[in-house]
Amino acid sequence: MIMDCDFCVFNEATSVFVISMGILPSIRTDPAQPVELDDGRWNSCEGCEPLVEQRAKAKLVARVVSVFRKSGMLPSPTPGELAAIKFNLDRKYTALFDADPVKRPI
Ligand SMILES: [Zn+2]
Repeated sequence: MIMDCDFCVFNEATSVFVISMGILPSIRTDPAQPVELDDGRWNSCEGCEPLVEQRAKAKLVARVVSVFRKSGMLPSPTPGELAAIKFNLDRKYTALFDADPVKRPI
């Protein structure tokens, strides 16, 4: 079964980072976004994986926004929309990194 990266969404996952189930606070701030199941498993593609390993939060946010934009998911965001997206991603990854995810084979 092919799974998508839980970070940038548009690439195939090659590894998974595992934390305890259900320990993340509610990270859903945008009603337009799908509800994310907190199963403690965060699939990662080859591009996102080293950034998660390094806890390189700012680079991970920049990469995810860049992939979203290249994929046409954010056709022409206003500066305010872009800032809100970055804020939400930052918040999500802060919570994830605080939970100290461990890489496992997928
Ligand atoms: Zn990815």
